[in-house]
Amino acid sequence: MPDLSGRVALVTGASRGIGYFIAKGLAGCGAHVVAVARTVGGLEELDDEIKAAGGSATLVPLDLTDMAGIDRLGGAIHERWGKLDVLVANAGVLGTISPIGHVEAKVFEKVMSVNVISQWRLIRSVDPLLRLSDAGRAILMSSGAASSAKAFWGPYAASKAALEALGRSWAHETQNMAVRVNMANPGATRTAMRAQAMPGEEPETLPHPSEIAQRLLFLASPQLQVTGKRFEARDQVFVDLPAPA
Ligand code: NDP
Repeated sequence: MPDLSGRVALVTGASRGIGYFIAKGLAGCGAHVVAVARTVGGLEELDDEIKAAGGSATLVPLDLTDMAGIDRLGGAIHERWGKLDVLVANAGVLGTISPIGHVEAKVFEKVMSVNVISQWRLIRSVDPLLRLSDAGRAILMSSGAASSAKAFWGPYAASKAALEALGRSWAHETQNMAVRVNMANPGATRTAMRAQAMPGEEPETLPHPSEIAQRLLFLASPQLQVTGKRFEARDQVFVDLPAPA
């Protein structure tokens, strides 16, 4: 596990699922965690668990479609800590699993808003803060859908492909800095989102989000040198993504 003592980590989607356990894991590594989501109850439960284990967190109830709120968050982190060491852009939504021609406009727009536009806005807000760290680390939560283009997963797949493209551009922009940007594919994980996507599946057959979170924590390590790649949690390997020409 990386030593993150004295470091500040921002985790979105920290109220449940994979983000909850990443936030808890980062706090266990010594980081002060800034935990973002809409569900206050989930954030408070996380805070209780982190405190009980001797860690610390700041809770930020925020809807990530509130773009001005994302800007304010970056400003507040700068004011309080003067830098950000770790960003885990984990929050995401699935939308509906249906033929492209049946997808409602408001569903497509919501998926793009949460999974792409708010991610860009967050990157824009914290990029200067990660550059102020001596080892800024960004983890963007992607999906196998970014490259598998399965039938009926159109909006979600398009959003994750866009997120990966953003992440690769960002990694290239920061490659000569102390910043490292990587994507992560958690793989099928026992969460609310997975249950929504595959209602007939037996959840117990899937890894618990705490197990997946443990596999991803090293991406926050100051020692990590890799940038611009996707880490596959299931096989625990980095995958090369197309590099700029
Ligand atoms: P969950 O649905 O369990 O959790 C999603 C998290 O995102 C929640 O904390 C939710 O918080 C937050 N969130 C959603 N919308 C918003 C919003 N508008 N504003 C703020 N926070 C929001 O999902 P998972 O844990 O399964 O997924 C986490 C990430 O991993 C996602 O990006 C997902 O695409 C990806 N992934 C998951 C896989 C899986 O099998 N589970 C497989 C591949 C990728 P709240 O509702 O409280 O706001």
